[in-house]
Amino acid sequence: MADWLFHEEHDMFRETARRVVAQELAPHVEEWERDGFVPKDVFRRLGQGGYLGVRLPEEYGGLGGDALYEAVWIEELAKVGAGGIGAALSGHSTIGLTPLWRWGTPAQRQRYLVPGVRGELVAALAVTEAAGGSDVAALRTVAHPVAGGFRLQGSKLFVTNGVGADILVVAATVDPARRHRGISLFIVEKSWPGVKVLRRLDKLGWRSSDTAELFFDGVEVPAENLLGEVYGGFGYLMEIFLWERITMALAAVALAQKAVDEAIGYARARRQFGRPLNGFQVTRHGLVDLTADIEKARVLARRALYVHWLGQDATVAAAMAKAYAGEMVRRVTDGALQVLGGNGYMMPYPLQRYWRDARIVSIGGGTTEVMREILVKRLGIAQWMGG
Ligand SMILES: Cc1cc2nc3c(=O)[nH]c(=O)nc-3n(C[C@H](O)[C@H](O)[C@H](O)COP(=O)(O)OP(=O)(O)OC[C@H]3O[C@@H](n4cnc5c(N)ncnc54)[C@H](O)[C@@H]3O)c2cc1C
Repeated sequence: MADWLFHEEHDMFRETARRVVAQELAPHVEEWERDGFVPKDVFRRLGQGGYLGVRLPEEYGGLGGDALYEAVWIEELAKVGAGGIGAALSGHSTIGLTPLWRWGTPAQRQRYLVPGVRGELVAALAVTEAAGGSDVAALRTVAHPVAGGFRLQGSKLFVTNGVGADILVVAATVDPARRHRGISLFIVEKSWPGVKVLRRLDKLGWRSSDTAELFFDGVEVPAENLLGEVYGGFGYLMEIFLWERITMALAAVALAQKAVDEAIGYARARRQFGRPLNGFQVTRHGLVDLTADIEKARVLARRALYVHWLGQDATVAAAMAKAYAGEMVRRVTDGALQVLGGNGYMMPYPLQRYWRDARIVSIGGGTTEVMREILVKRLGIAQWMGG
């Protein structure tokens, strides 16, 4: 049924997306969670259908949709119930390929974006470093200008798809003295001399996505692989992060809803003290409160999506949605798990995975505290408190 934001055409696309997720992804959740990555042939199959470029123009192999269509895809992906699959695909499309589309030259788009949208090469975005995650402006990877291009030196941490990626969009400073105004983005091919995967990182959740620590040891990057304007990197990153935050909030809402739906199903079937769990008012009311919590996050996330879709500045709406949804999904998956009692703690029940996957939403893509700091600045709260 159409709602205030999504209309019939989106509902039709949602049906298609749901089918693709059910056929191509859902049957493999356990296998990929165990292996720690989504196989490359999955990227190729999704690429053939255009699902790696839902909002990208058809001339690049995308579906030619817009932010609303991509939001539908993100929501349906989240409902597979394994955040790592969404992370691997979004690490490629949402944060890996989007910069190539937004700021790539025609040659860069043909060389990297088109095969990326087809799923023939996998992309990753490498920004975070051991020394600086929240404080992006403090990154230490340096791109020294040399004849014909730049020499890249430094390391990156927590890079989604970092092990399997064929290309990396790397943030580095060309002039550390300029702080955030000195940052540029570069397209780096993984096969180039000096690009090293130091290690695959083991982690609590998102287990079907690979996460890596990378090292760039004097990597020669030709000038034509600078992405966009030199020194334009920080602004580009803020634009990428904004969309990432909206998509993470939308995915968190979908995951939380799945958790509650499964808890409701369990509460109907499980009997204790001679009645089903949903016969206890405390259980019923708890599920109502979780549902209301999800709804608040849904309203914020969809409003942020709408503001962004209108082409307006969604910084405040996205930060608020991400901050709220990131905390909400922790509360809600925890409350849903509680309804399952001991079974909630057992690996065969997927709720334990939702609970583990939920934990990253308040950390990745900018922590809840960083979202609140953005809101403090944008809402003028610091000045107000200072009197
Ligand atoms: C599974 C996973 C996948 C990821 N994928 C990618 C990726 O693909 N590419 C990429 O570049 N990065 C990626 N990241 C990195 C992610 O964006 C960072 O972890 C995140 O931004 C936080 O940075 P940090 O880990 O360095 O924490 P820190 O910045 O060290 O923060 C530690 C704590 O201090 C708090 N803090 C920091 N600054 C402030 C402040 N000003 N006020 C109040 N509190 C503050 C934080 O909120 C946090 O609680 C990924 C991370 C994970 C865990």
